[in-house]
Amino acid sequence: MDYPLAQIALSKFPKAKFVEIEHYKDIFNRPKQHFQIQKSSMKLILAKKTAPFLYPASEMIQEYETPNVFYTTPILNCLYNCDYCFLQGMYPSGNLVIFVNENDFFKSIQEKLKNLENPLKPLVIPISYNTDLMAMENIIPITSNWIKFVRELDNLKIEIRTKSALFSSIENISPPKNVILSWTLSPLEICEKYERTAPPVHRRINSMKSAIEKGWLVRLCIDPVLLIDRWEDKYNRFITDLFREIDGKKLVDITLGVFRMNKDYFNRIRKRESRSDIYYDNYIIENGTVTPPIELRTHAMETLKKHILTIHPKMRILIWE
Ligand code: SF4
Repeated sequence: MDYPLAQIALSKFPKAKFVEIEHYKDIFNRPKQHFQIQKSSMKLILAKKTAPFLYPASEMIQEYETPNVFYTTPILNCLYNCDYCFLQGMYPSGNLVIFVNENDFFKSIQEKLKNLENPLKPLVIPISYNTDLMAMENIIPITSNWIKFVRELDNLKIEIRTKSALFSSIENISPPKNVILSWTLSPLEICEKYERTAPPVHRRINSMKSAIEKGWLVRLCIDPVLLIDRWEDKYNRFITDLFREIDGKKLVDITLGVFRMNKDYFNRIRKRESRSDIYYDNYIIENGTVTPPIELRTHAMETLKKHILTIHPKMRILIWE
């Protein structure tokens, strides 16, 4: 309760009913919860995390050209609720857990920096992997606290991936060289159908533009690429239009990937409810991952890569394959 983040969170909800619990898993990990019902009225669980604070990078993320990639989980679950989100299958609860002992996360990173598999390569940590941290910034300033922490650390890069339009919440911080802000964008039709609870894409683009203009390192994520009817036209047009709005030369890089999900998560979601046609497409299971067949996904990635390179021939493109 005495952690500053706990006090900030409590101060944001003065009328909230407060229930003291022994351990967050007593509530969060209960069996027979309904993820989607809980998403419609999320509860906030404040907790203290114990080790481990860093996890080996999932095979679901793009190769970052260093073996030193770990992810971390300052928050479990997300304010948004995208149809294709793996969190629905990963967690038994739709409630949000905020770990308030952020200094313990920071200490574990300082330790890891002394003990890297390849010390000549940077330590890369996506910190917004199981949540959308920036979407929470007006409630709890975890994004800005992390930026302040990593600013002075050599050989460390963090990535903050978001669909939020809340760049304004950190715009007064001067941009460090080791923080990448990554916006996930999709064609309008995908946003409206599968990302209904996230901000509209034009607001995300405006946030991204502001970040680029203020000198932040910005990555564009077009991920997952959903192979819907006439996906080629829709994604190519979206990319063309986007590069009329943002200066592509100022992007750090672009990540591309098709839909993919751990098969157990996928089956759990499909069994529980069938609200999205995403879970009824033609997939294969490859190394425990549900994903489109290799010819389809290679074709999709090559098509989009080619299109991006016709507009920006020198663009660095990272692809999940
Ligand atoms: S923004 Fe990301 S983490 Fe949040 S629901 Fe959508 S896919 Fe999941």
